[in-house]
Amino acid sequence: MSPTDSARQADADALLTVTGLHKAFGANEVLRGIDLSVRRGEVLVLIGPSGSGKTTVLRSINGLEIPDAGIVTAPDGIRIDYSAKPAKKDILAMRDRTAMVFQHNNLFPHMTVLENIIEGPVQVKGVSKAVATAEAVALLDRVGLAEKRDVYPFQLSGGQAQRVGIVRALALKPQLLLFDEPTSALDPELVGEVLAVMKELADEGWTMVVVTHEISFARGVADEILFMDGGVIVERGTPKEIFTAPKQERTKQFLHRIL
Ligand code: ADP
Repeated sequence: MSPTDSARQADADALLTVTGLHKAFGANEVLRGIDLSVRRGEVLVLIGPSGSGKTTVLRSINGLEIPDAGIVTAPDGIRIDYSAKPAKKDILAMRDRTAMVFQHNNLFPHMTVLENIIEGPVQVKGVSKAVATAEAVALLDRVGLAEKRDVYPFQLSGGQAQRVGIVRALALKPQLLLFDEPTSALDPELVGEVLAVMKELADEGWTMVVVTHEISFARGVADEILFMDGGVIVERGTPKEIFTAPKQERTKQFLHRIL
């Protein structure tokens, strides 16, 4: 296969491609040309110091943040060029394919666990309440929370609430799962149960983009690691390449600080 052929092959397999992403908040240039792609079934992990732009990348992927420039492409002809005026229908289509798990679970406090989970499928996707409920119960069972279906979020531990947040994302049947530091607000003893669910999802073949400081998770689960600093990708590679033989001085310093 010629290099051109293999590049084409890579493109055909990509579930998401982002090129030339730029974003400024006022004078603060937060993203300065981000390129990445994720293939089906791959787990891409973004690491880097606080403020380096990782969350903004995630939010730009699903149009929660509107970048100043950059092209986001996905299968079925979705191509959003933020330098031109992006078509609203493409941004909505992209949102439809993705689901995000946030740092702080943003469950609706006045709804039970079950109501939180079926809200999106029923209200946004038009699934019948009976079907959405059956699917939600099966998903809750999978993460060991079947008995919590009728409790309210305040009755959950932080780890349980994040697992419900993951179930809520799965219930939308997205093609791509986005995780924004899902364990960083948890007490240390609750982190493992959330990472275990995420690992299971990776093993099942979900395509995931994960922002995390959990290096052992990144090492064990990621197919590719991107190290970001100052709004650029400083270095990218397999976990082995990044964690055992980082090439860039900035990557070495960051890892030295956190490992
Ligand atoms: P990270 O996820 O790596 O911590 P972020 O993407 O959250 O980085 O933030 C990158 C920079 O963008 C930070 O300086 C942050 O203060 C700034 N920023 C993020 N969101 C906003 C916003 N909505 N308005 C203004 N500045 C923002």
